[in-house]
Amino acid sequence: ICDDASLLLNDLNTAQREAVAAPETHVLVLAGAGSGKTRVLVHRIAWLLQCQLARANHILAVTFTNRAANEMRDRIQKLLGYNPSGLLTGTFHGIAYYLLRQHWQLAQLPETFQILDSDEQLRLIKRIIKEAKIDDKVFSPKKIQQFINACKEKAQRAQSVVLMSTDRETQAALTVYQFYEQTCQQSGLVDFTELLLKTYELLRDDESLRKHYQTRFKHILVDEFQDTNYLQYEWLKLIAGPAAKLFIVGDDDQSIYSWRGARIENIQLLPVEFKETLLIRLEQNYRSTKMILTAANAVIRNNKNRLGKELWTNGTEGDPLFLYKAHNEINEAEFIVHKIKLLGKDYHNNAILYRTSSQSRVLEEALIDQQIPYRIYGGMRFYERAEIKDVLAYLRLAVYSDDDAAFERIINTPKRGIGERTIEPIRALARQQGISLWRASRLLLADNGFKGRAAKTITEFLHYIESLIEQTHTLLLSDLIKKIIETCGLPDFYLKDNKEEGQRRIENLAELISAARQFEIFNRDEEKPILTFLAHATLDANNDNANETNHVQLMTLHLAKGLEFKRVFLCGLEEGLFPHQNSLDEGNVEEERRLCYVGITRAREQLYLSHAETRYYYGERSYSRASRFIREIPAELIDHIRFNNAPNYQANVKNKNEKFAIGTPVLHHKFGRGIIVDKEGQGEFTRIQVDFSENDCKWIILAYSDIELL
Ligand code: ATP
Ligand code: MG
Repeated sequence: ICDDASLLLNDLNTAQREAVAAPETHVLVLAGAGSGKTRVLVHRIAWLLQCQLARANHILAVTFTNRAANEMRDRIQKLLGYNPSGLLTGTFHGIAYYLLRQHWQLAQLPETFQILDSDEQLRLIKRIIKEAKIDDKVFSPKKIQQFINACKEKAQRAQSVVLMSTDRETQAALTVYQFYEQTCQQSGLVDFTELLLKTYELLRDDESLRKHYQTRFKHILVDEFQDTNYLQYEWLKLIAGPAAKLFIVGDDDQSIYSWRGARIENIQLLPVEFKETLLIRLEQNYRSTKMILTAANAVIRNNKNRLGKELWTNGTEGDPLFLYKAHNEINEAEFIVHKIKLLGKDYHNNAILYRTSSQSRVLEEALIDQQIPYRIYGGMRFYERAEIKDVLAYLRLAVYSDDDAAFERIINTPKRGIGERTIEPIRALARQQGISLWRASRLLLADNGFKGRAAKTITEFLHYIESLIEQTHTLLLSDLIKKIIETCGLPDFYLKDNKEEGQRRIENLAELISAARQFEIFNRDEEKPILTFLAHATLDANNDNANETNHVQLMTLHLAKGLEFKRVFLCGLEEGLFPHQNSLDEGNVEEERRLCYVGITRAREQLYLSHAETRYYYGERSYSRASRFIREIPAELIDHIRFNNAPNYQANVKNKNEKFAIGTPVLHHKFGRGIIVDKEGQGEFTRIQVDFSENDCKWIILAYSDIELL
């Protein structure tokens, strides 16, 4: 088509090219891990722009995480050599937020609407349960939260919910849902699912708005499509007009969010609902070594419900998979950290993946002990920390005083002697009049509704917030945050509570000021920087870029989707933990296996598997068998490693290193007989190269291998 554009096809294989340069039809790229789906999607965008098939603002690209959206923009910019402005990329939630910010009036929201994260949502639900006098011993707030979110994910409002059962529990949940909806509406609060649901309803009910976006988005591209849920799929169908072309990439084997409503069947539905979809399969994997890929294929083959595909690679054989059987979880962590230390200072090349986030604590301790820098993704994210949320609640109240969630959070934080006895009448009045807590407290104060000390403290509190409100018009975002930190009394409160912890919190607050500064610099043209910053803090909690800094990366398997690392440590491979007991109970081992497939296929060069014989889990020490997933990997791919952190370990290593000299015949438990042909490194790092008569030449790290002299 044009010369510049054909350059874009140079580093692609035939099937990938076919997808990238496909004519303007719907395209579904269905392919396994590491086959270049994301790469193809990025190239497609660049292709559309380069060939002038579309302008940047005609393109909408949906990714699974904010991090992926950022990476996508980077990669497109690199491919094109410029930054295409107007291109809309982001997660479903991020894009829905963008739409609501444009159309808050239509959505009947205050311009300053705030996003409620799931913690705050739970808090609000607890409050409503209390107010509605529902017994929270019988009805767990968490369950009710799940109920509400599940309804919303099915696009069901409280008044339109069709109850499958009419037991008391469901009835109670529905009542809470009704109150919850009202409160959110009143306080201008929007939870995560609400972002999508509201935009979905807007597009559904407002024809001119729908037409507008249907005309704008001529190309809609979606990554990780296998994990879209009902609402996301319906949303997509609304925004995709008759002329829009979809470019969808996904892998049914990597669908791992069914517990959050994801529906693999969307992949099968798509070609039926969108006629003339070009189906493209990619089968060559470019990410992993042969060993790793063979293992991944072998594991996933045990699943029955698959669309069926096999990956191959031209890459090198690579190292075998390493398996370590630990005595307990501490020993497992020590092993992993020890290994990482041996492997060199490129810490960011190591990822430790685990099934449940609670496994990270022991790993963290071992990393700290060995002074290895690390970062946890998705665990306690910066913007989710209590101290950050406290300060941001002040900011929220200052920009939108009707925000009840913010009001509740800080009315007595730091402690200013405003107890339940003072707050309860405020809540009662707010309920009665259908107004916010902020307004209710002002009314009460004006009516002399507070007695004694309470009157004084409430007056002070309201005045303080009013002074902040004024300063939102004059101060820069970062200066305002600084001001709040200096005047709200939180630092002293934290220090009094716990000195060490308090110090750490204060450091985080300082970090918040610099985050706001940075935000200002990068968003100079932003008209309402405070609002955008607050949204960014809630939506983009995971904002740091992994590869820029040299940290070991820790995350749950779910969060690792789409990413790749040179070395992966997949730990806790035990029955009951991975596969997780909950899934086993529900008969859903296939989803766990897909998760395992995701984990294995994150590794480019080396994969370390580990399991512990005993683990402290759910408050007690339990004994567990190695995961079935280990057995599903062909034994010949696995190298068992030993790790001994006993005191005489160093001496053993020295001894072993001396005996294994070049020219010596040896016996390896798996590769058989061979002769040492080369040797390098020192101490624990010593490696020998052995020429095995029945196998190739292999490099072996002496300290860890099951090898003996002949
Ligand atoms: P996942 O299913 O895990 O999301 P994916 O299918 O999206 O994987 P990519 O992340 O796009 O795969 O690609 C995997 C790796 O292979 C990347 O490092 C990518 O740059 C590389 N790669 C893909 N296609 C090619 C190619 N044709 N030539 C060279 N490298 C490629
Ligand atoms: Mg991908």
